[in-house]
Amino acid sequence: MAKIGPIELEQNATEDEEDVLVDLNGEDNDDKPDINFLPVPGYDNVRLDQSLLPPPPTDFIPATDQGQPEFMSEPVISEETARQALIELVERNCCWGKGAAKSLTFQELQSSTSYHYVLQTFTEDRNSKWDHVPYNGQFVDGPENGSAPAPWDISATFAELFKNETQHHEVPHTAFVQPCHKCKATGKVTCGRCRGSGKVNCRSCGGRGRKTVTRNGKTQSTSCSWCFRGKVRCSNCSGSGKVTCPSCKGCRHLKWFIKLTIDWKNNVADHVVQKTQLPAFLISQSTGTLGFQDMQPRVLPISRFPTAEINEASHRLLYEHQFPQRRIHMQQHVIRMVPVTQCFCKRRGKEFTFYVYGLESKVHAPEYPDQCCWGCTIL
Ligand SMILES: [Zn+2]
Ligand SMILES: [Zn+2]
Ligand SMILES: [Zn+2]
Repeated sequence: MAKIGPIELEQNATEDEEDVLVDLNGEDNDDKPDINFLPVPGYDNVRLDQSLLPPPPTDFIPATDQGQPEFMSEPVISEETARQALIELVERNCCWGKGAAKSLTFQELQSSTSYHYVLQTFTEDRNSKWDHVPYNGQFVDGPENGSAPAPWDISATFAELFKNETQHHEVPHTAFVQPCHKCKATGKVTCGRCRGSGKVNCRSCGGRGRKTVTRNGKTQSTSCSWCFRGKVRCSNCSGSGKVTCPSCKGCRHLKWFIKLTIDWKNNVADHVVQKTQLPAFLISQSTGTLGFQDMQPRVLPISRFPTAEINEASHRLLYEHQFPQRRIHMQQHVIRMVPVTQCFCKRRGKEFTFYVYGLESKVHAPEYPDQCCWGCTIL
């Protein structure tokens, strides 16, 4: 039987970090340039902030019956394996000590299989916005070179199926050059730390210019030796009151263009079918055997699995994974079968329940009487 480990349910979001600027060097935060952007066909709604460009309809015809693969047989944890897993854990536990396992009486072991259904839909969405970079004489691909290709006609490929990825592209033939609005084409802006004065308060005396010192038990006031009248030269602008413009980096001009941002995303939905009280997330985080797997541009909902709840979950989650604003590249769904054994035990006359689960034989023992001991090594 094929082993299948936990499936990553959420990938780290790929944050767009480039726009995060510490505004030490800007004289104001008013970044709205007064530019009359010419309309670009296919990008009618493009703005200074990002706007979504839904894909054109595709002529994709979903299969009506694509012949689903067979379901595999279920794994079982034998009584002996469960007993061994428990005894090993008890012996490893610092607080129980050796020999403590012998005081455990197993009353009953109940084996069952939990099913973990996972649906993955790999989508692409495209956003556009007007963006700019400093202009220092580089090539400018403007409308004189032709008309801009439609957003979904720009070719781009992802590195790997079912992996999140973000790419930025300059839309061809949309660029033009303008004087920088931030610095009014001077290349410099007022220093944000000293607000243009070139001087800041002295840290040594707190800007007072004088300090109190105690000499021979007497307190007296003396002028601060670090500054002149409480002020020192601003280190951010070296005293000039001006710093290089953060927008044009001193180039005085900006190249504007439509920036296309492409996001490939692995959308994951899952459902656990459980016959015991074991928390569902423990099932999704443990290894099982592969009960079913199918990958297609559009998968069909599972309809013939012996457990009806799986068929229902497959229908529901597939219905939720439609994404009309995005293009679907590929879908994949699997059923992972995770063995679970519920063990009814007795220790020093007290009854409690253990769970042994997963092909790794993990143990979950929330009812154990000495909670503090178990809490440190076992969930
Ligand atoms: Zn300054
Ligand atoms: Zn001072
Ligand atoms: Zn500038």
